Amino acid sequence: MPKIPDELTPMMTQYLQIKKDYQDAILFFRLGDFYEMFFDDAKTASAILGLALTSRNAGRENKVPMCGIPYHASENYISRLINANHKVAICEQTEDPKAAKGIVRRQIVRVITPGTIIGQNVLSRPQNNYLVSICSATGSQFGLAMADLSTGEFRITELGSEDKMLSELVRLRPAEIIADRRIRDNNALMKTIGIKISVLVSETEDWSFDFSAAYEKLVAHFKTKNLKGFGCEEMRTGICAAGALLKYLENTQKAKIPHIKKIRPYSLHSYLILDSTAQRNLELVHSVRRDRKATLLNELDFTATAMGKRRIVQWIQQPLLDEKLINERLDGVEAFYKDHRAGEAVAAIMKQIVDIERLTGRISLNSANGRDVFNLNESLKVIPDLKGALSGVKSGLLAQLGQALNALPELTALIDRAIRDDAPISVREGRMIKPGFDEKLDELNAVAKGGKEWLASLQQKEIERTGISSLKIKYNRVFGYYIEVTKTNLHLVPEDYIRKQTLVNAERFITPELKEKEERILSAQEEKTELEYRIFTEICERVMSFLETIQENAAAIAEIDVINSLAQAARRNRYVRPEITTGLDIRIKDGRHPVLENLLPQGEFIPNDTRLDAEKDQILIITGPNMAGKSTYIRQVALIILMAQMGSFVPAAKAEIGIVDRIFTRVGAADDIVSGMSTFMMEMSETANILNNATSRSLIILDEIGRGTSTFDGLSIAWATAEYLNQERSGRPKTLFATHYHELAELELMFEGIRNYNVSVKEWNDEVIFLYKLAAGSADHSYGIHVGRLAGLPKEVIGRAREILSNLEINSVSYDGIPSLVKSSMRKKEVQQELFTARENPLLNEIRNLEIDRISGLEALNLIHKWKENLNKENE
Ligand code: ADP
Repeated sequence: MPKIPDELTPMMTQYLQIKKDYQDAILFFRLGDFYEMFFDDAKTASAILGLALTSRNAGRENKVPMCGIPYHASENYISRLINANHKVAICEQTEDPKAAKGIVRRQIVRVITPGTIIGQNVLSRPQNNYLVSICSATGSQFGLAMADLSTGEFRITELGSEDKMLSELVRLRPAEIIADRRIRDNNALMKTIGIKISVLVSETEDWSFDFSAAYEKLVAHFKTKNLKGFGCEEMRTGICAAGALLKYLENTQKAKIPHIKKIRPYSLHSYLILDSTAQRNLELVHSVRRDRKATLLNELDFTATAMGKRRIVQWIQQPLLDEKLINERLDGVEAFYKDHRAGEAVAAIMKQIVDIERLTGRISLNSANGRDVFNLNESLKVIPDLKGALSGVKSGLLAQLGQALNALPELTALIDRAIRDDAPISVREGRMIKPGFDEKLDELNAVAKGGKEWLASLQQKEIERTGISSLKIKYNRVFGYYIEVTKTNLHLVPEDYIRKQTLVNAERFITPELKEKEERILSAQEEKTELEYRIFTEICERVMSFLETIQENAAAIAEIDVINSLAQAARRNRYVRPEITTGLDIRIKDGRHPVLENLLPQGEFIPNDTRLDAEKDQILIITGPNMAGKSTYIRQVALIILMAQMGSFVPAAKAEIGIVDRIFTRVGAADDIVSGMSTFMMEMSETANILNNATSRSLIILDEIGRGTSTFDGLSIAWATAEYLNQERSGRPKTLFATHYHELAELELMFEGIRNYNVSVKEWNDEVIFLYKLAAGSADHSYGIHVGRLAGLPKEVIGRAREILSNLEINSVSYDGIPSLVKSSMRKKEVQQELFTARENPLLNEIRNLEIDRISGLEALNLIHKWKENLNKENE
């Protein structure tokens, strides 16, 4: 706690009074042309912003830490504090200091937080800036609402499990979240959220999550009787989250949020669900590695507008499930793909369109300036061209989007007449409104202009009268207009000049005539800027009355832009249109990894086929040494499916995609940076999630690379999982299993629908050559050591590794639990004897007697867990 002086100045008392309610924010206290910060706020802000930390007198002889910034440059400073995860409370002077009796009245006019910032420089980022609100009704049912204050998007959903809720958070990457007490008190959950997404969790009033308060808040905001019209009346938990979110927005903005015009419910049932591991591992919009460009987004994004850029991220993260909707998008892509002139024309027009969605946000929140309105208008004015460019394109969806565009001629005509193209950043300086727009303004302009002319002529007159050629009439805020005479000419100054100020090289004078005129000039100017501001506000209100149409335009532009972008990507990368079916088969001919194929020199990527279904080719066990291309292959299959369902063409020679409802992934633990859970526990819970939720439409990718667990654990889990997934009751989801447990190859012999593949390598002249070609059958597994040799491991290490490998082989278990002696050798006999003695261990007996056919995969997992615990106890 900062030391507070005993006897405070009245201003400091006022400051502390205000600060009391905004403890969690850095308070910007307006003093004239500056915002000042005091006490700890000053220390924190000066360190982050690199400002000088000084002090201010706060009471008798007492100084407190202080730093300050000029108010007109505040946006940049605020965004830097927000980027450092701080909140900023803006405290303005709310009365004219000249009119104030005593201390000027001040109050907080806005609290800026990471999830509610709408300043230009923060929002120049292409992504959405989401504030997310979550609440839980029962512990397993979650309500989630999200809003992007900059665009006015407001959505609501309900999620049936913690896992789904977390996946949504990972998808949305909110800048800030608020959560109800039940969630905030759940330490384990809060910790997981912290690990999955590093995000500011803000405090808000608990009662705002109460159903009736939340419901009331929403209907009051939308001015409706109920929420039926939005289709979310029944979403009780969702409503709690949404109401609290709206309340939080109003609290921070200290105003209503007019551009949030509706709330749109969505259900994960409409989209292909990607669990959080899948989102990360498939590197859809963010890269796991350092190469930030190595993402699917980067390959597909040729959008021309900010709206399109945000929308393509949504499309990638939420592929569709409905065959008809997917084909509508594909038709659109195909139309531009075939008619690339139309595509290019549309792109060229799109390039002229600014972020109209965010501009309307700024206008709604009174943060817009003349330039914003001018830019909005320039964008609206190209809409007729866009409609024209779309008119010949053969696609139902594009035709529909083209029709949805509304050029708003009435509004553009108004703005054309009103707003100057060189309007300044500030809205308080005038120079925004064109001459001829408002009679009164023109009059005042004439007076102001006349005043300037009069001043010029006065200056000329005075030069002639005094003979001082360097005499100048100037203006400053303190004295108003004055006559400046340099020291050398002072002897020429006439008697009627009244001295006001002496400088080093000059003196400043006034005359009664000048002062009299000054008042008229200044008041005309003041009146003029005041009037300009009023007219500007009225124009903003006119814009607001078209808000919904502008938002609809923005949405249509976004979609057209994405479709065109996908067509461009398809052309550049030689993609083909996939055939979408409601069956369960996946057939891909010469599939490629969309990202890797462009990272490698052209022609070096080796394409591979894929055959997956619920019958004979249900589980593909893919073996091969490290670096052979296993991960690439299984990810490429997932990416091709995802691209097809988002409505994109795909990197293949031909593809038939039976719609997939979820993509699950489990990746070897050492690859995963998530900490805080034991590896074993995490694998168990991920596996449990897959086994419990996969359906016959799901795709599962399991990648065992870089595993952290012991061979026994990993192998047993892998085996039991594969076996369970192969059974009818699991729904037989399509599964790709990259593994270096060559033992799993034995599964193919025992189960229908499990197939072995390997990514082939060739030995040539004692070297290993990677062919990256998928072939039937399992891999010989000793190539890892060759790779080690290639990588330059010393000879001794290679030799020893061979020895260890052969030992490991000897110890490996086969399906029936008896050590499998792969090849005969002397050593193996010895080992067999050792193992024989080991059979005295009761655990081995238990394994021997276990009737694997009668237990489920999950039961097997539980047993393994128990055995492991027992073994650990024995070892202690
Ligand atoms: P694994 O999972 O078997 O260890 P990866 O899939 O990580 O192997 O692939 C290792 C490297 O091999 C990749 O980074 C890439 O350079 C190359 N590679 C993989 N698949 C292909 C392919 N189909 N064509 C060409 N190069 C490939």
